[in-house]
Amino acid sequence: MASSELFDKIVNLSKRRGIVFPSAEIYGGFRSTYDYGPVGVLMLRNVKDAWWRSMVQLRPDVVGLDASILSPPAIWEASGHLANFTDPLVDCKSCGSRHRLDKLEDPNTCPTCGATGEFTEPRQFNLMFKTQAGPVEDSGAIAYLRPETAQGMFINFANVLNTSRKKPPFGIAQIGKSFRNEITPGNFVFRTREFEQMEMEFFVPPAEADEWYDYWCNERLQWYIDHGMTAEKVRLRAHESDELSHYSSGTSDVEFEFPWGWDELEGIANRGDYDLTQHAKHSGEKLDFFDQASNSRYTPHVIEPAAGATRTMMAFLMDAYHEETVNDETRTVLRLHHRIAAYKIAVLPLSKKPELAGPSKEIFDGLSQRWMCDYDQTQAIGKRYRRQDEIGTPYCVTVDFDTLDDQAVTIRDRDTMEQVRIPIADVEQWFAERLV
Ligand code: ATP
Repeated sequence: MASSELFDKIVNLSKRRGIVFPSAEIYGGFRSTYDYGPVGVLMLRNVKDAWWRSMVQLRPDVVGLDASILSPPAIWEASGHLANFTDPLVDCKSCGSRHRLDKLEDPNTCPTCGATGEFTEPRQFNLMFKTQAGPVEDSGAIAYLRPETAQGMFINFANVLNTSRKKPPFGIAQIGKSFRNEITPGNFVFRTREFEQMEMEFFVPPAEADEWYDYWCNERLQWYIDHGMTAEKVRLRAHESDELSHYSSGTSDVEFEFPWGWDELEGIANRGDYDLTQHAKHSGEKLDFFDQASNSRYTPHVIEPAAGATRTMMAFLMDAYHEETVNDETRTVLRLHHRIAAYKIAVLPLSKKPELAGPSKEIFDGLSQRWMCDYDQTQAIGKRYRRQDEIGTPYCVTVDFDTLDDQAVTIRDRDTMEQVRIPIADVEQWFAERLV
């Protein structure tokens, strides 16, 4: 399938099946904002839960945080965002369109109208959304919507250290919304002005920083593969020295092969002591660690794996999308890892007849205690299977008239389409062995 075709199919499927809707559609839409529908909200939540499970739940050395989105200018002054969180903006004098210079394929040619040599001199455009907190419009009321979640971890470093009984090497993780006034949002939910991030700041003794940087690069790449991404479609790309920010001694991106080429899913950066030092300097608070073993103080170095939740969900969607011919018909199937799939199981009574509703509801009630299940009793069964294939549900449980006699159901596998007959009494255990 051509790349542009895949892209259009994902956008269409998203709309048709309640994954992602363009926002404010009834008012003509609002550029670059999206709403996650009944299926999409589950998938996005699963991406975030899978990350949280790997990064917090399974790790004694990482704790969580949920910091505020509204923040005072002092944070962004200290972090350097007020001065440096900018992208180079150019205007096309011929058609008036605006572009981000560093993302243009040809820095002299306007991608909107094709004019060459018509760009204005680039100027630095700050991406932070500025607002005001409270009813008085003065400079003391200025607040910013955070453009990343990371600063929440740095400004709470001492709070967490004092309350969690952790010591370096340890991490603080957070998932949440971030906002950037992107010059050219686009490619569906790949680049939006409002998006969700999954970030972790890992604080280490300075001498261990390089080792932990390598560790996190490998760990993060493997996470995507473990959650079903085709290994050939994800890779690590180390930044060239001219791409590095001044404080970073190493950054690698986890990249996915999107329809438009390899592009970033996540950045892993070796940030040195830049962040804690800056906040200590600007706030006057001590942000270091007293190591009892060596009887000395040091400022921990930071390794930061920073991923986008919404962007990652889109990559999972694109990677999972398959079309195949079955009985001369095209079958669309999302081969998602069960942890990412919106529903794990769909319970489908063969017909709407009331005698099937009783056992079907009972099975749904039992299974949905443990797994997110769908329940669908309309349309022909074949159509309902196709519908579940399209949203990536790994298993369908069909309750038919034989069920009333043999107390068994048919379970259909999304990928192989094979069906097995299982006694109702064994169904939960059957799934427990497969939905691990
Ligand atoms: P870019 O260079 O593409 O603007 P970045 O390198 O500035 O991105 P980071 O600051 O490293 O991005 O953010 C970490 C992650 O957050 C990114 O890898 C991406 O997954 C996600 N992200 C960043 N900006 C956006 C956005 N505008 N829309 C969706 N996700 C984003």
